[in-house]
Amino acid sequence: MAKQSTLDAIVSLAKRRGFVFQSSEIYGGLNGCWDYGPLGIELLRNIKESWWKSMTYRDDIVGLDSSILMHPRTWEASGHMDSFSDPMIDNKQSKGRFRADTLIEEYIERLHKKGKEVQAASVQDRLDTAVAPEDYYSIIVDEGIPDPVSGSKEWTPVRYFNLMFKTFVGPVEDESAAVYLRPETAQGTFVNFKNALESSRQKVPFGVAQIGKSFRNEINTKYFLFRTREFEQMEMEFFTKPGEDVEWYEYWREQRWNWFLSHGMKEESLRLKEHPADKLAHYAKGAVDIEYLFPFGWGELEGIHNRTDFDLKRHQEFSSKKLEYVDTVTRERYVPYVIETAVGASRSFMAFLCDAYDVEEISEGEKTEERTVLHFSPSLAPIKAGVFPLVKKDGMPEAAKEIHQRLQKHYKTQYDESGAIGRRYRRQDEVGTPFCITVDGDTLTDSTVTIRHRDSMEQERISADRIEDFLRSHID
Ligand code: ATP
Repeated sequence: MAKQSTLDAIVSLAKRRGFVFQSSEIYGGLNGCWDYGPLGIELLRNIKESWWKSMTYRDDIVGLDSSILMHPRTWEASGHMDSFSDPMIDNKQSKGRFRADTLIEEYIERLHKKGKEVQAASVQDRLDTAVAPEDYYSIIVDEGIPDPVSGSKEWTPVRYFNLMFKTFVGPVEDESAAVYLRPETAQGTFVNFKNALESSRQKVPFGVAQIGKSFRNEINTKYFLFRTREFEQMEMEFFTKPGEDVEWYEYWREQRWNWFLSHGMKEESLRLKEHPADKLAHYAKGAVDIEYLFPFGWGELEGIHNRTDFDLKRHQEFSSKKLEYVDTVTRERYVPYVIETAVGASRSFMAFLCDAYDVEEISEGEKTEERTVLHFSPSLAPIKAGVFPLVKKDGMPEAAKEIHQRLQKHYKTQYDESGAIGRRYRRQDEVGTPFCITVDGDTLTDSTVTIRHRDSMEQERISADRIEDFLRSHID
């Protein structure tokens, strides 16, 4: 299947089966915002739950949930006020608005496709060193890059556009009441460094993990959940002694890579992309992205950054509060370095969904048919088991409902008695349910059920009182 149509098929399945809906769809939708439906919310919660457990169910990391609205000085200290912006350009004819760097990147990609490698490399060089609005503008004009929709080459100058959403606290809408919806959760963690340290009696090295909504007024929001205006992040800031930071940076790169693999993500769909030393943010000592091969190409999934003591020092300067750590044994005093792991919950959701999606040809006897299946790892699957009576009579529905109710105390399961058993399997395959439990005539005499595995489609027979053990050993 062509790549765009794969993405279209995934978006359509996501809507039809209740994973993701467009926000305020009945009013025509709101760009860059999405709603999670009955199955989507289960998947999203499972992703967040797994991240939370892997991060905070250990002795050296504590959790936090800081507020979305923060003191505006936060964003001056963090640098977001001055530099959290994208270069933007408008087309005079179509009135379309684009990110200037993205327009150029897409142009470079087209040059590669046409085999114009020398030209592509020279434009890439200019893009890599572009800083001022005029740098982007002159590339677009010199190369004659057209509006991708209308083909027009009539451009306005490039302007920087701050991505933070502004609002006001209290009834008066003037600058003194201006606040911003946070564009990342990390700053809430930095300003709470002392609180987290002192209240939890942690010692450096230790970390603070947080999951929460962030907001960015992104210019381009195409590709479904990849880049949205409202999204959820899962970020962890690990505070280390200067000098021990490199070791911890290596450690967290490996941990985060393995987390994706442990949830069944295909290794060939993941790659590490180092930020070369000359392209690092001025304060950073090391940065790597974990990228995923989305249907539209490689895209960042998570960033692991060695942020040095930049953030704490800036907040120390702007708040005039000491954000130092005192080692109680050696009496050393220092501002810790920070290793950050930052991943989007919603972007991970999209990656797990794309990675799980498959359309397979299956043969049953003479017949060949297609089945759509989501190969979610059992721990992430929204529904853990479908529970079916083989037929709607002879006490089978009652026995199946009883099993379903028993399992629901611990796991999300779904009872289904409508249609042929094959159709019911397909419905569960399409939403990634790893197991289907069927009650048949034998169940009523020998108390056994069949368990059908989603991926192999093989069936096994087990005693009904062992179902919980079976699920526990396969899911947890
Ligand atoms: P990108 O350039 O891909 O938008 P970024 O480098 O600005 O990402 P960070 O600020 O490092 O991203 O944010 C950390 C993580 O948060 C990203 O790796 C991504 O998973 C997620 N994220 C960032 N912006 C968005 C967004 N607009 N929509 C969904 N997820 C996002």
